[in-house]
Amino acid sequence: MKIIRACKTCHYLTEKESCPFCSSPTSKRWRGYVVIRNPESSQVAEHMNIKKPGKYALKVM
Ligand SMILES: [Zn+2]
Repeated sequence: MKIIRACKTCHYLTEKESCPFCSSPTSKRWRGYVVIRNPESSQVAEHMNIKKPGKYALKVM
């Protein structure tokens, strides 16, 4: 089973050690996630400053 990591800057969930969007390091320690399908029409995406669809961690430690 692969370990899912979360970007420390934009919270994007990925298996990589650095974020494919913003190149920040990722963390293995995170909690909860949201799926953003339409960032333009999502209040959650706006609140979290998310610009691209995908899965995002709610909290990254
Ligand atoms: Zn990122």
